[in-house]
Amino acid sequence: MAAPWSELPRATLATLPTPLVPLPRFSEAVGAEIWMKRDDVGELGLAGNKVRKLEFVLADARARGADVVVIVGAAQSNAARATAAACVRLGLDCVVVLSGSPPDSPAGNLLLDRLYGARVRFAGTTDWAELGGFAERVRDELRAAGATPYSLPAGASSTLGAVGFAVAWHELLDQLEAAGVDASTVVHASSSGGTHAGLLTGRALTGGGPRVRGIGVADDIYPDVPGQIAALASGAASLLGLGAAPGPGDLWLDMEHLGDGYAIPTADGVAAIRLLAETEAIVCDPVYSGKALAAVVADARAGALSGPTVFWHTGGWHAVFAPPFSGALLSAG
Ligand SMILES: *Cc1c(COP(=O)(O)O)cnc(C)c1O
Repeated sequence: MAAPWSELPRATLATLPTPLVPLPRFSEAVGAEIWMKRDDVGELGLAGNKVRKLEFVLADARARGADVVVIVGAAQSNAARATAAACVRLGLDCVVVLSGSPPDSPAGNLLLDRLYGARVRFAGTTDWAELGGFAERVRDELRAAGATPYSLPAGASSTLGAVGFAVAWHELLDQLEAAGVDASTVVHASSSGGTHAGLLTGRALTGGGPRVRGIGVADDIYPDVPGQIAALASGAASLLGLGAAPGPGDLWLDMEHLGDGYAIPTADGVAAIRLLAETEAIVCDPVYSGKALAAVVADARAGALSGPTVFWHTGGWHAVFAPPFSGALLSAG
């Protein structure tokens, strides 16, 4: 039977399947069996979880005749950087609209945005609603200049973006089966909701599998984060011909590791990043994946994991090369 996404336009951008690997030394250190799904590695533009979404989202942009892609994001947005890279590959122009003001010297993702030739516009605000208004004006300017812009929401988390993670879910189940691992839970960092919504949709399509636990790393991106995730899941489910969308009861979103807010490193997150680096030489970042990893470490040490756990490494390590994150990683301990 053809896969339910086989009719949707899709660009080839991701290096798939991404590896599923055991973490023997890290597992020993935390006292639980932890596996890692490595979306942090890949061939395109230094990878990360956004590349999966962009396969569907940018294929749609092309199908609609767009010639320039506009994406909004935080100053160190991984989605903006991945979009800039993907646009190079697909021959599309890219404008990244970022919150805040330009730093003195571009580092991390911002350096890469520039390197990939994206036009970078700073909105001069960190308020998401105002950022949206600024992006709207950028699109008007582009249209007035004769271009055909295609807009991406923050995190490339449109319904089509979530489809990329419904596909990813199937990829994971195949790998777990081949490895003979009966995982109980999949843990990942969640912000704009496309990853979580897509995995839940995939789980609904396969009728089961490990539970999906999103670790919230942002609380200001939408007024109602769980509602947004549910809406994305129901949109993705209907695109994939699934009768019943995942319900609110399937949503396991844990905000306990957010700390003081989006992009503010936590001591537990930094400690988890260092433990992983020292045991496996794999790098997480303090904005996203490090906070999700902190949840895994805390639960493993508390004996609260009910079986093998898959940590979905969503990428984002580029930010460790940018202030203030580089300093935060080495300040403690
Ligand atoms: C965007 C991002 C996430 C969260 O994914 P969403 O689909 O936006 O919820 C997690 N980790 C990293 C590194 C990211 O860049």
